[in-house]
Amino acid sequence: MGCIESKSAPAAGDSKTGEDFNPFEIMEPRLPSKTPVDRKYGKHVKANDIPPEGVYLPNNNYLAPHMKSPEYVQLSNAAAITLGIMGGRMYRCECTRCLNLLLTYPEGCRANCAYCGLARHREADRDYADRNFIRVDWPAVPMADIVDIVAQDPDNSPFHRMCISMITHPRSEDDTFTVLEQWTDRIDPDAIPVSILSNPTTMSRDDVQRTKDLGADIFTVALDAATPEVFDRTRGKGVQSPHKWSKYWEIMLEAKDIFGPQKFGAHIIVGMGETEYEVLKLVQELVDLGGHSHMFCFFPEQGSLMDHLPATPRDQWRRVQLARYLIDYRDVRVEQMKFDELGRVKSYGIGDAELSDVIDAGIAFRTSGCPGKFQDDISACDRPYGDSPPSDIASYPFQPKKKDVKLIRKQLDIPVSVE
Ligand code: SF4
Repeated sequence: MGCIESKSAPAAGDSKTGEDFNPFEIMEPRLPSKTPVDRKYGKHVKANDIPPEGVYLPNNNYLAPHMKSPEYVQLSNAAAITLGIMGGRMYRCECTRCLNLLLTYPEGCRANCAYCGLARHREADRDYADRNFIRVDWPAVPMADIVDIVAQDPDNSPFHRMCISMITHPRSEDDTFTVLEQWTDRIDPDAIPVSILSNPTTMSRDDVQRTKDLGADIFTVALDAATPEVFDRTRGKGVQSPHKWSKYWEIMLEAKDIFGPQKFGAHIIVGMGETEYEVLKLVQELVDLGGHSHMFCFFPEQGSLMDHLPATPRDQWRRVQLARYLIDYRDVRVEQMKFDELGRVKSYGIGDAELSDVIDAGIAFRTSGCPGKFQDDISACDRPYGDSPPSDIASYPFQPKKKDVKLIRKQLDIPVSVE
């Protein structure tokens, strides 16, 4: 198993309409079905009184109700392999540079986001600790064990950053503070900086301030949807989920005030029904505020309410990746770019030679996220194969080689010039 595992892998070719993008009309989530009473709130897990024992590998089917944050966290397969907690290998990657942690509870996340493997409706058929999330399993590990390993030599750690992902749960804020404190008590945040991937629905300005006071370096908001309509349909009342676009923006603006320029941003998923123009307008808005965008390509997560829908066609994704990189790191503005009547990028606002250099450099097509120790535009968070199978890479978790760039150019329909 490991990061090379594929959790259903539909082709990311043309969408169902034959277009080279995913239009709003077809990206409709199915409705959640009713959860049987005996499965609600992790009830059957909590009916047990089995103490957790060390590392929990998903699908152990070992019902341990006390395996919860802040004592326990889940971590990505890639992080578990890099940490040496799990065996396995990652296709074309030596390790991950980001230690992604996820809070965990037997009753799981209380939201119902349509694209997410952790969503509440899944309690009907899968315990929280066994749910796949961004295409991989997430083993649960005692936080103290993780800190013990990394604290041995933070300066030479493979990790360039640690990130705490919050979920929607009444204990999420308090446990984030505890996990963060446990880390910064033993590990200098200058050696391995910490990011918070927040879930604003239950947060206040004071909570944001507290993460800063406890040593967090960057605060991001998991906005995920690029427009209010897509947000509402995929993670608001469209799927009986509690999130509101306005609350996410409120907390993002608090983070802007508290963390300052280049230290806040938003996660965005591309291909859930927004147009390319809409998502790039949002990227520009974030840059104008002083923040960054971190992008995922939509992938139909198995078991989610959107698992019947097409992955984002590679041509749409590559256009948005390239344009987003130019806006975020090359001072190109969305107003300089040209779009067709369907909102697709038609030109990137810079000369052909410069565009060609950016494509050949390959960085624009790497996974985006908070920076590591190499350079500002190279993310520590490489999330290997979190948004695609390795056979059809969306975000490159490594520096693309010549053969990769050749494929990217084909997907972009920008051949090498032959002067
Ligand atoms: S709040 Fe986050 S973890 Fe919870 S269902 Fe939504 S996307 Fe998934």
